[in-house]
Amino acid sequence: LAKRMKRSMEKNIAKSTLNQENIQETLREIRLALLEADVNIDVAKELISKIKEKAIGGYIEEGASSQQQLLKIVHSELMDILGKEVAPLNLSKKPTIIMMVGLQGSGKTTSASKLAYYLSKKQAKKPLLVGLDIYRPGAIDQLVELGKKINIPVFEKQKQNPLKTAKQAIEFAEKNNHDLIILDTAGRLQIDKELMNELNDLRKTTSPQEILLVVDGMVGQEIINVTNEFNNQLKLTGVIVTKLDGDARGGATLSIRHMTKLPIKFIGEGEGFAALAPFYPKRMADRILGMGDIETLFEKVVENVDERSIQKTMKRMFMGQFDLEDLRNQLVQVSKMGNIGGLMKMIPGAKISENQIEESQRKLVVFSILMSSMTLKERREPKLLKSLSRKSRIISGSGRSEKELNELINSFEKGKKQVLEMGKQMKSGRMPNFGG
Ligand code: GDP
Ligand code: MG
Repeated sequence: LAKRMKRSMEKNIAKSTLNQENIQETLREIRLALLEADVNIDVAKELISKIKEKAIGGYIEEGASSQQQLLKIVHSELMDILGKEVAPLNLSKKPTIIMMVGLQGSGKTTSASKLAYYLSKKQAKKPLLVGLDIYRPGAIDQLVELGKKINIPVFEKQKQNPLKTAKQAIEFAEKNNHDLIILDTAGRLQIDKELMNELNDLRKTTSPQEILLVVDGMVGQEIINVTNEFNNQLKLTGVIVTKLDGDARGGATLSIRHMTKLPIKFIGEGEGFAALAPFYPKRMADRILGMGDIETLFEKVVENVDERSIQKTMKRMFMGQFDLEDLRNQLVQVSKMGNIGGLMKMIPGAKISENQIEESQRKLVVFSILMSSMTLKERREPKLLKSLSRKSRIISGSGRSEKELNELINSFEKGKKQVLEMGKQMKSGRMPNFGG
């Protein structure tokens, strides 16, 4: 009997653990998925053997199949390589200088303008683009054109020595209150000494806070050599991987992370100026495994504005209970609805210029940044903000100015008064006319 029990127990254990047999097929599929996603072949091999080692002998959780259990291991292994969180830019210094480097055609100029656009929208930055590629014909004109499209000034001195131009650009930026300078440097078809010397001189002259390597995500196997070379010479602070549009599955990001450990800060997903996104490791892990962009889908669901919460805020507003926390929640809703320009234009009879729209959009971003540097208590009791020490903490924490904070407090007070007035009118039966 003891013998039989032992055998049946062994059988049960075999069923509830991962072994050579029950992972083989799935492992083969995973290997294919990695290669299809353009993961470097050596990286893929290494990864597979590591996964195998980890998996064999591991328990299968109740209710899961061996396949699911294995995928869980693979996913967490990918996350270990890709990094757990978004790697932010270091924007603390004013003006912040970002230097874009990379081979010709990798997407430096395009990414420079995308990044300027992104940071002007998301961080209320006032960028200056600087054209320093004096070799590639038309390179500077290309940047000027892009700058026009996104309404961001471009500093250039045509074929003048790039070191001199960079110095002048920094002076210009300081005089004109630009808090961000993005240097678009020259590339070559291949890495050479001359290029590296030039870039190094530029680095020493400008002391940038960020040196971002721009690499073409479709290039495949040589991407690691290129990244290593640039990193050895220039001490990169991060990488932007471009051309990961639609079908490209982003395996290049995994190769780069695995071989160089450099943070990937953004990915380019198209030619348009809005086609730049922060690098989200989890999304990329899902994408590489072909699980689809689960998180993006999830966000779309959440994006549908929660009407009940809006109604609740309205009620609070009319009762005079409206505070900065409510305002903040409202701004979140507004920004979820996409561009407020579109919304403002829908107000009948309102003549609003593009400039005004841009200004209010900028203000919304600034206000949101300020409010996220406040404590919940401060948002719930805005009168606490009369304290100077609280004010200066919020100002330094948010990196915004005292003027901007006062502006926020004033518009909040003004708005609150108007709403209270409106509430009274409604109670006395005179409905306010919203127009339309
Ligand atoms: P540079 O030589 O490094 O400055 O490269 P450019 O910025 O001039 O880009 C080279 C080409 O790649 C241009 O045709 C860009 O439109 C294109 N490009 C850049 N980034 C992306 C991207 O994320 N997706 C796609 N599809 N094309 C891109
Ligand atoms: Mg260029």
